[in-house]
Amino acid sequence: MIEHVGISDVGCVRSSNEDAYIVEPELGLFVLADGMGGAQAGERASRLAIETIVQYVREAAPIKTLESLVQAVRTANHNILQQASLNPDLHGMGTTVVAVLLDVPLAHIASVGDSRAYLYRAGELQRITSDQTWVNEIGRSLGLTEEQIHTHPFRNVLTMAVGARERIEVRSYELRLEPGDLLLLSSDGLHGVIQDTGMAQVLAGNGSLAEKASRLVEQARDRGGPDNITAVLIRRTEQEA
Ligand code: CA
Repeated sequence: MIEHVGISDVGCVRSSNEDAYIVEPELGLFVLADGMGGAQAGERASRLAIETIVQYVREAAPIKTLESLVQAVRTANHNILQQASLNPDLHGMGTTVVAVLLDVPLAHIASVGDSRAYLYRAGELQRITSDQTWVNEIGRSLGLTEEQIHTHPFRNVLTMAVGARERIEVRSYELRLEPGDLLLLSSDGLHGVIQDTGMAQVLAGNGSLAEKASRLVEQARDRGGPDNITAVLIRRTEQEA
């Protein structure tokens, strides 16, 4: 059995929420997107990406493969570029995407940009996705430490986004979920504000998934909430129904 919850909060500084998420348990699909672009373009981009991915996966059902999930993200890229080309107000819009397609016990994961998927297993929080950011892809090879990466002025500079160009690099991952495993999807308004150790402490605590998700958002707000904050939690329960 799968338990899940999603939460999104505008934060304490921004006037609009360009993050979006969707949970479609009957499809086994969970998607988080963090949009960017002027005016309402960022919101359009994240929502359009999510709508496209849901539609693609729904039409592909019952096929649930990593390839189909990656193709869904590529289709979202195409749709965003097309919409942007039709409307000057939307020019340059883009979005991150992190998407999970469950075919229990398998979890297929696709990612573009710096939204993340984590696996919380046996008390340890592990990063599954690798950020497509300047600090991660270039800064790290120049010797930046984890702490420097977390605070670097270029930490938000993406090297890839859905809607950025015709051909994008979609990162893909596959893992086997054990009973009790928990997946966390997060936007950088969460993991850029709270360190992994802080998020692990919240996930270790008592309470429902919804309470844990609320606590993650509260902690990001307590640290100033400089950006939109979004989390999706997905857990394979210990007891199979
Ligand atoms: Ca963000």
